[in-house]
Amino acid sequence: MSLKLDGKKLSLEIEEKLKNYISVNKTIAKRKPGLAVIRIGEDPASGVYVKNKEKACSRVGIKSYIFHLKDTVEQNKVEQLINKLNLDKDIDGMLLQLPIPKKFDEQRLISYINPEKDVDGLNEQNIGKLVKNEPAMRSCTPAGIINLLRSQNITIEGKNIVVIGRSLLVGKPLSLMLLNLNGTVTMTHSKTTNLKKICQEADILIAAAGKPNLIDSSFVKDGAVIIDVGIHRLTSSDKSKPRLCGDVLLGDVIPKVFAYTPVPGGVGPMTVTMLLVNTIFSWQKQFGLSSNLNDLLP
Ligand code: NAP
Repeated sequence: MSLKLDGKKLSLEIEEKLKNYISVNKTIAKRKPGLAVIRIGEDPASGVYVKNKEKACSRVGIKSYIFHLKDTVEQNKVEQLINKLNLDKDIDGMLLQLPIPKKFDEQRLISYINPEKDVDGLNEQNIGKLVKNEPAMRSCTPAGIINLLRSQNITIEGKNIVVIGRSLLVGKPLSLMLLNLNGTVTMTHSKTTNLKKICQEADILIAAAGKPNLIDSSFVKDGAVIIDVGIHRLTSSDKSKPRLCGDVLLGDVIPKVFAYTPVPGGVGPMTVTMLLVNTIFSWQKQFGLSSNLNDLLP
């Protein structure tokens, strides 16, 4: 039987450790860790993600500060807010909830975030350190995937790993992290020819294309590990609750694989948990607290 890589269960276990860590150390730091989230506009999915982050912070004892700006706000006002939060001593981590409306220069805003507070690991300084395999804030979704693999002792070193997608948010940082861990990584994208053939060689196949049910069992080698990053809300005509699916046709693939991540309950919860880890990591550094969180960081 295939192994379910249960991100929900693992994230709750990690959260328990984080909660204890905060409760032991907050008397030394004299305040809780603080996370600022900037949301611009009314994208409904972003609303759900921000709420989930707020709830996760409150579960472990992080104070969250939510800044919900109208999409009429000027770019320079957002830059001013980021600069203010960069200087705010109560804020350890900060993120810009993506996507933001097209009129904003997203990369410029991210580059304004102090790299020490860049808990999404998207600032060029942190990406540069990742390229050089130096310690730095790591992107949450890739870091969550690596912790999920580690939790089941799935070896990365020496494995053929195919990543579908090359976005700055997922595909690129994930490929670099896996490379740094001595995987043999192939990064694919929408212009890749013969995607299926490349995927069939993968010991670990990671789908982050953002295309519902792109991957069926014909893409997958027997005994492979399959990680599904995609999240899609499929609405039905009867207005019932939307059903979630990923990039992988899971029912078709599960009988063939050694291990798989479910959607929901796989990569998603780990992403949020790594955001908490990064925030606490920044808090820990600021106050010189003991560093037994290191084993959670790829
Ligand atoms: P994105 O920015 O749209 O990037 C998608 C990538 O997939 C691009 O590199 C694109 O190639 C490639 N691609 C698209 N269609 C393809 C195809 N048919 N074959 C091969 N490659 C293809 O998306 P993203 O931000 O990386 O997110 C990807 C998915 O993960 C989305 O469903 C998103 O909702 C989900 N996600 C989940 C989490 C989580 O916590 N679970 C976190 C982040 C994202 P080009 O570069 O050539 O366009």
